[in-house]
Amino acid sequence: MLSVVILFIILTGELDEQPVLMPVPEHDEATEQLIGHRVVLSIDDGHRSVYEKVYPLLKKYNMTATLAIIVNSLFNDNAGYLRRGRGYYINYEEIKEMVDSCNVEIASHSLSHPWLTRLDSARLWQEVYRSRLILESLFGIPVLTFVYPYGAMDARVRRFVERAGYRLGRAVRPGAVNLWVDPYRLPVFELRQGTGLEAVKNHIRNHKISSILLHRVVEKPAVFTEWSVDDLAALLAWLDRCGLKTVTLSEIYYEWRQQVINRIILEWRDGRGVFSPESLLQDIHIDATRAFQPR
Ligand SMILES: [Zn+2]
Repeated sequence: MLSVVILFIILTGELDEQPVLMPVPEHDEATEQLIGHRVVLSIDDGHRSVYEKVYPLLKKYNMTATLAIIVNSLFNDNAGYLRRGRGYYINYEEIKEMVDSCNVEIASHSLSHPWLTRLDSARLWQEVYRSRLILESLFGIPVLTFVYPYGAMDARVRRFVERAGYRLGRAVRPGAVNLWVDPYRLPVFELRQGTGLEAVKNHIRNHKISSILLHRVVEKPAVFTEWSVDDLAALLAWLDRCGLKTVTLSEIYYEWRQQVINRIILEWRDGRGVFSPESLLQDIHIDATRAFQPR
């Protein structure tokens, strides 16, 4: 019975969801505990501070991030969510520089940052699909990740994101990130004005994969979507001391894909799998190869 329970824990990643309440002292033991952990900095909207405050830190520690870009902000659109206009968002050259020097991932955050769940299908398709095409042609790299504006999504929006060719959809909801969550509804740990540095470190200690959401990084956070640049510097310094580098969501995707491929190869070799060797040549879809696990 115990082994069944352990197997269940391994398969579902339940252990990830059980926070260890004891604070862990910062020494070699803590570093040991973090071996193999993955940390993603998922930064939404492309605010100026990404280039001015975050980018120097990424360069300093040789780290990376997933940047969710609102496509129309690159064209100085001032409509709706983009009303803050020129100078508020990072521009094409700045993003290109970060892609080239830090390998940051470009994720689509739609064309205009609308509430996707309220759009008719034609408009929804434009926001989801066209944004990917434009980003891919502008930056010359595949765009695998879609980040839902306001975290707003439902079954229809999810379906459109999948059909538009994305491999991951990042939501705004708490939870453990692992191979068994819906890849089109990935959870995130949101850093808000009041989120303490220790809370973030504990989250990273307690999760094999941590996806951390930032919007604006400023000297003195004043609104809920802002986080302290000093805390971010301290966080990255701590990760560096622990021997951890941040990764992108697409890197996580490729790791998962590799795990699935490895499993298929093993099952086939042992002659007990349901997958034919031909399936190795086909595109492997994470969803189709895992047990249903509603979260
Ligand atoms: Zn946003």
